[in-house]
Amino acid sequence: MTLQSVLERIDSSKEEMVNSLIEMCKIPSIHPDSGGDGETERAKFLTELCGKLGLPVRSVDAPDEKVSSGVRPNMLVELEGKQDKMVWIVSHSDIVPAGNLKHWDTDPFDPVVKDGKIFGRGVEDNGQSLIRSLYALWAVKEEGGKPDVGCGLALVADEEVGSRLGIQYLLTKDIFNPGDLILVPDFSSSAGTDVEIAEKNILWMRITTEGRQSHASLPHKGINALRAGAELLLMIDKELHDRYTGKNEIFDPPTSTFEPTKKNSNVPNVNTVPGKDVFYFDCRLLPEFHPEEIRTTVRTLADQIEQKRKVKIKIDIIQEEMSPATSEDSEFVVKLKNAI
Ligand SMILES: [Zn+2]
Repeated sequence: MTLQSVLERIDSSKEEMVNSLIEMCKIPSIHPDSGGDGETERAKFLTELCGKLGLPVRSVDAPDEKVSSGVRPNMLVELEGKQDKMVWIVSHSDIVPAGNLKHWDTDPFDPVVKDGKIFGRGVEDNGQSLIRSLYALWAVKEEGGKPDVGCGLALVADEEVGSRLGIQYLLTKDIFNPGDLILVPDFSSSAGTDVEIAEKNILWMRITTEGRQSHASLPHKGINALRAGAELLLMIDKELHDRYTGKNEIFDPPTSTFEPTKKNSNVPNVNTVPGKDVFYFDCRLLPEFHPEEIRTTVRTLADQIEQKRKVKIKIDIIQEEMSPATSEDSEFVVKLKNAI
């Protein structure tokens, strides 16, 4: 087996890869919390594709009552190497919803090829990685002989909403070993020449304000949760931006970000003072800021609004992730840079 022969094999299957990616992306695999039914149908497609490519699949399904199949499918596809050490490529099979269909020129779930690109929901994040890594592994297998190190793919569920039943589930199952090299191709740069070695810390919060519902003509009988929530939202927005400054140019953008995002609907009619208000913040922190600090700051602001507006405010953490950066001099980063 030579690198050249593997690359030629991959190049010669371009059309097949494009078709596989298009067919796979016709199957929505949306998280149950975002209104979908999970990844099971897509996992079936991938299992069949592995069958066609002659690649062995090991299933490590995580139970989940929220989806009709009862599981969130994780798949491992492995080729043995001369050593026990493995190179893993981790890709995720779930996608985010299509959003407002008015902003799509074509059906998000019927991908099309235009100007040398594929347009459809999830073709990039993370469909291309699922398909490319499968064909890469297939090409290595077809060349015959054992590679120096083992090669494995982890095709995981549940990445877009917390990873609990995806990679985190696999981490409890004794699959990865210290010394394994792990690549996560889930970051896009069109030239494909960047190696990402650090991520911002993540904090997602749901902020629920409880007031008292009343008729809008008698607001003194209620406590308007929307007004209190809106005031708090703007206070959080200002305080976090003022307080957690600083720049690190390895990130794009180089600053921490604090974005109010999702907003739950409240009352269906205009003439009711809402008794409950729910909004969310997505915070991405430079590594020097701990999510705990942000939570404390937001709680302090919430206490002020509770006092001022006579409401109750609850802060739920939807996701909190901290990961140390990988060293620029680590074995895998050096190898990747050389490869690129
Ligand atoms: Zn992704």
